[in-house]
Amino acid sequence: MRLNELGDEAETAARLMADAARLARRIQVEAGSVRAKADESPVTIVDFAVQAVVSHRLAARFPDDPLVAEEDAAALKDPAAGTLLSRVVDAVHTVAPGLTVDAILDAIDRGRGDPAARFWTLDPIDGTKGLLRGGQYVVALALIVKGEVQVGAIGCPRLSLTAIGGPEGGVALAVRGRGSWWVSLDADELLPLGVSTVSDAAGVRVAHSVEESHSDRGRLEAMRTALGSQVSPVLMDSQAKHVMVAAGEADVLVRFPRDGYREAIWDQAAGALIIEEAGGRVTDLAGRRLDFSTGRRLVRNDGLVASNGRLHEALLRALSPQRPA
Ligand code: AMP
Ligand code: MG
Repeated sequence: MRLNELGDEAETAARLMADAARLARRIQVEAGSVRAKADESPVTIVDFAVQAVVSHRLAARFPDDPLVAEEDAAALKDPAAGTLLSRVVDAVHTVAPGLTVDAILDAIDRGRGDPAARFWTLDPIDGTKGLLRGGQYVVALALIVKGEVQVGAIGCPRLSLTAIGGPEGGVALAVRGRGSWWVSLDADELLPLGVSTVSDAAGVRVAHSVEESHSDRGRLEAMRTALGSQVSPVLMDSQAKHVMVAAGEADVLVRFPRDGYREAIWDQAAGALIIEEAGGRVTDLAGRRLDFSTGRRLVRNDGLVASNGRLHEALLRALSPQRPA
């Protein structure tokens, strides 16, 4: 399979994510200058620079498609921002030297688009806390058409897949109905991704958030006990977890619902399609499909359960013991 056989949208998404992963990796050391957002989550110059570059290039290629992205430029326009803006501009100029400051701010703010019949969703850095602690982080882009994810691409600066080998970093790409692949960062080589064949509960590898505030370790342990898993969970930041399930390097992934929190579409869209097209299954904790037609957040879903398919019913039962067998 070659990238140009998968259509313009998939090829564009994979190339943008490969470039974004390389940009993020090159400037990740600068992430130290952190601003906390209103919800206390961190945002760094890497988040802004990646959103500017991806948004600008996506608009050049698909000018009519709205972009729904995690960040906006308000913090950069704030006079109290200090050198933040000039550092973002310097980072963007390493790959797009011609962009003016206004064009960079506009590109970032273009991500404030509204979900429409056809739109893209971007998380410029998913797992910012992972980036800051030297763990995993990714750049995630998905095309959603009439509430269905059609293309998903995840740029992974630091991920290595044991079964695939090769250098660290790559892009996980999925096209609905076509499959999932691991694409090298030079976008030359596509290798198919496939979920594991594990069905014996004792060996189940459960992927879960590192961040305590995104997880529930007590519930995770209760679920692992109910399932009979005897191996340690794979704790990892970001949708790198979804790629691990799609690649068969973890067997299941769970996100517990938390009071007052609804999953953002940019945190799940690309990852969900990549797992499904690799042969896996993705639902919420009640076994419902994820509904990407509800705006910026998955308001009709409670948490997330993803698996290699074989383990899915056992996993749902381990999460809700009252569920009929
Ligand atoms: P992870 O690294 O899998 O824990 O997921 C990182 C993503 O979780 C971030 O991009 C956030 O958008 C999102 N997030 C933020 N707050 C919460 C929360 N309270 N519960 C679950 N996820 C959250
Ligand atoms: Mg995120």
